Amino acid sequence: MSDAYYVTTPIYYVNADLHIGGAYTTLAADVLARYNRLKGKETMFLTGSDEHGQKIEQAAREQGISPKELADRIVAGFKEVWEFLEITNDDFIRTTDPRHEATVQAFFKLLIDKGDIYKGVYSGLYCVPCERYLKQSDLVEGNCPVCRRQPSTLDEENYFFRMSAYQDAIRRHYEENPDFVEPQSRRNEVLSRIRMGLEDVSVSRSTFTWGVPMPGDSKHIVWVWFDALINYISALGWPEDREKFDTFWPQAVHLVGKDIIWFHCVIWPCMLLAAGLTPPKKIFAHGWWTIDGKKISKSAGTVVYPRDVVEKYGLDQFRYFMLREIPFGADGDFSFKALTGRINSDLADDLGNLLSRTLAMVSKYFNNSVPEPADEAGAELREMASGLLAAIDAELEHLAFSRALDRIWELIRRCNKFIEDEKPWLLKKKGDTAKLGGVLYVLLESLRIVSWAIEPVMPASALEIRRQLGIPDEKGVLSELMTWGHLKPGTSINRGDSLFPKVEQ
Ligand SMILES: [Zn+2]
Repeated sequence: MSDAYYVTTPIYYVNADLHIGGAYTTLAADVLARYNRLKGKETMFLTGSDEHGQKIEQAAREQGISPKELADRIVAGFKEVWEFLEITNDDFIRTTDPRHEATVQAFFKLLIDKGDIYKGVYSGLYCVPCERYLKQSDLVEGNCPVCRRQPSTLDEENYFFRMSAYQDAIRRHYEENPDFVEPQSRRNEVLSRIRMGLEDVSVSRSTFTWGVPMPGDSKHIVWVWFDALINYISALGWPEDREKFDTFWPQAVHLVGKDIIWFHCVIWPCMLLAAGLTPPKKIFAHGWWTIDGKKISKSAGTVVYPRDVVEKYGLDQFRYFMLREIPFGADGDFSFKALTGRINSDLADDLGNLLSRTLAMVSKYFNNSVPEPADEAGAELREMASGLLAAIDAELEHLAFSRALDRIWELIRRCNKFIEDEKPWLLKKKGDTAKLGGVLYVLLESLRIVSWAIEPVMPASALEIRRQLGIPDEKGVLSELMTWGHLKPGTSINRGDSLFPKVEQ
């Protein structure tokens, strides 16, 4: 197993502020990055912004500013959102960064030298809002299948990437790496399209100028998608920084929305194969959120911004909900009713209540001091808690955030049931202090392990649990932290406020 981990989000297009859809991908990547860091892996988490293209040039002109000024303004907003959501990205790549433009040019030049770029004429359809080439057969009622707008007709001299030459190689890569694209339904969908045949793609534009100049022909700029996809290696310093590239690239996991799988799962791996590089380790396509059952749309008023949710309900509550509510890969619906339901049941009733009632008993029966463990108490819980990390590992291997959280909540609910079954108040009445202490120790130690299990998703709440357990400074790697028995008898607990106050529906 490698000691490195590399996770990326798509770079976000600088044409609008981020709503919960964009925040979702970045939150998921953040959880993976935090998790892998806690496992002791050298982790690189990349996000960024996609700033070139005709649409940005047009939008900037309408506002009377330069495209770069427009991009700067939107990028500042992106960074603010990421900071607000406590996203721990290690780098933020902009496609206008000189380091990125240099990589794009080096990559393009390499493909020219290999004979995989040639000059031709593109006459056909193009959707400017989506920056994608369309065929007649792609259209839905005469419109772009993605944004449902009418496409433009282009007739211009372009450079083409000889993607058809990589059809067999990419098909083989899919067949030899069954987990290359997940979920499996997406993989099968892409693979069957590959088997139908790949056409060459136009990779330059010459009717506007907002892009990376093409090496060898300054009348052309590099097509915005070809430019954007390269961000995943320009941030690793390719081709100059071989050490960084060799460390992280073989471990790359790309998270993408299902609308951009053709670019990521076909064009990008073919570009890499052409450049003599291996495709990323995994590409995971997640689903789309609706809001109260409706498509997210600013103009229709069905849009939710992360800040509005977080200010009202709390950051950890938002992070938990987004990853718990729907399986990663499926479509799902955001509603305030579902959010408040999760906060009140999973967070307040299950976890918050477990912490407060356990600490209340430690306070009452043991004068705020962690009691001695007892061998006979709670063997089943000890076993569950000891196996939790392996269970989470197995789920996160396939990016099943929701199921991983489910496994943690199984333990939490079992702890609550353990209290009902053991009835510590009766043990106290009977004067069985050793067993009483043993029962409470099992609960305290389970809570400590739970705090580490939820740390990547809810870092502030996890720390607050440990603060209340009297161990705010505990540190290390998960394989040690999540083994049983670290909590020392005699530790002074610090009962605090309720971890997750209930909210109104
Ligand atoms: Zn479109």
